[in-house]
Amino acid sequence: MKNKPIRMCIACRKREKQQELIRLQKDQGNLIRYSGKGRSFYICTKCLESQHITKIVAGRMKIDIKSVEELLRSYK
Ligand SMILES: [Zn+2]
Repeated sequence: MKNKPIRMCIACRKREKQQELIRLQKDQGNLIRYSGKGRSFYICTKCLESQHITKIVAGRMKIDIKSVEELLRSYK
């Protein structure tokens, strides 16, 4: 059996199976869904529900807060 890749949520730093995390990307200062190339990062579904997730992602990744708000809303 092959090991499933494990990745870390940038908000709570918990490690989860990659497939259970939401994969995101910073693109020219905005937040987008992972495009399939370039660097990406992850948040977990629990953090997605957190009130502070928008600020955490915007602050930690230096992304425009409005684009974070809009994209994360589309996952809820
Ligand atoms: Zn998390």
